[in-house]
Amino acid sequence: MKPKQLILPLTIYNQIVEDCSNHLPYESCGLVTGLNHRVNKFWPLENELKSSKRYFVSKQSLEAVMNEITQTGEQVLAIYHTHPVTAPVPSYLDLKNHPDPFVYMMIISFKLETPLCKLYSVENNRYMECDIIFTT
Ligand SMILES: [Zn+2]
Repeated sequence: MKPKQLILPLTIYNQIVEDCSNHLPYESCGLVTGLNHRVNKFWPLENELKSSKRYFVSKQSLEAVMNEITQTGEQVLAIYHTHPVTAPVPSYLDLKNHPDPFVYMMIISFKLETPLCKLYSVENNRYMECDIIFTT
């Protein structure tokens, strides 16, 4: 089963946006985890490319974070990254590199003054927009 929505508390979303904006002009990336499609925590990862167009996380640092997540008992619900100057639409490389159709892709765009966040399910290099339900 692949639910087409994600519940995201605004406090966590605001923390993600703040953390990502601190890394501008570079792209940021990370994971959000939780249970039952509800986000409970986010895990920033270091964009080792320090690029405004791409991001990369080494296998080692990803594994370290994954080990911590496993200990929390939560699931990885989405992988997020930012688009510092472009719209929140998956690029060709975003689609190609997305590792798991059961994990959402979340893109936060800083193109406009107010950041814009979009959620997608990705499978076989195709994407479909999904809903984010912001809660307080
Ligand atoms: Zn991207």
